[in-house]
Amino acid sequence: MSRATCLVGIGKIALDQHVPALSSSPDFHLACTVSRNGHVPGVPAHASLEAALAAHPEVELVSLCLPPVPRFAAAEAALLAGRHLMLEKPPGATLAEVHALQAMAEARGLSLYATWHSRMARAVAQAKAWLSGREVTRARIDWREDVRKWHPGQDWVFEPGGMGVFDPGINALSILTEILPRPVHLTAAVLQFPANRQTPIAAELTFTGGVSAGFDWRQEGPQTWDIVVDTADGARMALRMGGNVMEVDGVPVAGEADIMGEYPALYARMAGLLVAGTSEVDLSPMVHVADALTLGRREVVEPFHF
Ligand code: NAP
Repeated sequence: MSRATCLVGIGKIALDQHVPALSSSPDFHLACTVSRNGHVPGVPAHASLEAALAAHPEVELVSLCLPPVPRFAAAEAALLAGRHLMLEKPPGATLAEVHALQAMAEARGLSLYATWHSRMARAVAQAKAWLSGREVTRARIDWREDVRKWHPGQDWVFEPGGMGVFDPGINALSILTEILPRPVHLTAAVLQFPANRQTPIAAELTFTGGVSAGFDWRQEGPQTWDIVVDTADGARMALRMGGNVMEVDGVPVAGEADIMGEYPALYARMAGLLVAGTSEVDLSPMVHVADALTLGRREVVEPFHF
């Protein structure tokens, strides 16, 4: 059975990943879109979610690709209209918003899926299995990319609630929280804010358990999305390419450098939640971000312009 889906916020990630994933999904098809400017050729487009859902009573799933700040109002409207809901990462602008959505979905018997696309990267499950039962002695995340390439002209990432470099950094944290055999918590952070912006462009995080992370949005040329984990038995496991390639002691053992499988896997997971009649909302990556913004020491760096 293919379920009708309404995609909201037709911008970069909707067009890059959600539309192709829905086109090839055996479980869902794109019935309509909601966006002020964007559209998908051949698909009915609406200016508001309320109008879209009134015109398409067959829509079972609403999938939100909006930036985090405007997302809550749309999420609430979808649940109040009795539709199941899928959220891009990060699932909200604040933790409390997502707790409210959880309660709303539960009260209405609807499925809520707070997605973390990086957890669907090709080698994450193997890394989790490899680490299970091992003792981690040290872990280092290096997540450095070019904000101009991935968020061209998107000023919202530097506005309050846009999370700055934590927008990509939370992808690394979603993998970390998935693969570590024991949870860790943040103990210190240094955040670099451009003098003209509201959110950090770089961050250095320290966690318990020998875990640390460096995020930077100013890297041009080759991009770095690495997590390296040392274990008490003397081995070193590395996840590279954003979780898509796994190495043990420098030798590739799993995965491939191809990110196009992540979004089909998210929609397959959503289908599984609907069949089971359950929700999946893990806020642990976002808790680390909130803690970093709570504990972080602020450094002001040079102004940033797209
Ligand atoms: P985007 O292109 O800037 O935004 C998506 C669409 O949302 C926009 O095209 C816009 O459509 C609508 N929108 C933007 N601001 C809005 C506002 N204030 N109120 C109402 N609608 C608004 O962003 P994106 O890169 O696709 O990112 C969206 C989400 O996907 C973020 O949470 C991001 O973390 C996540 N994500 C992004 C990437 C990436 O590579 N960029 C990768 C993975 C996940 P209209 O103007 O047509 O209304």
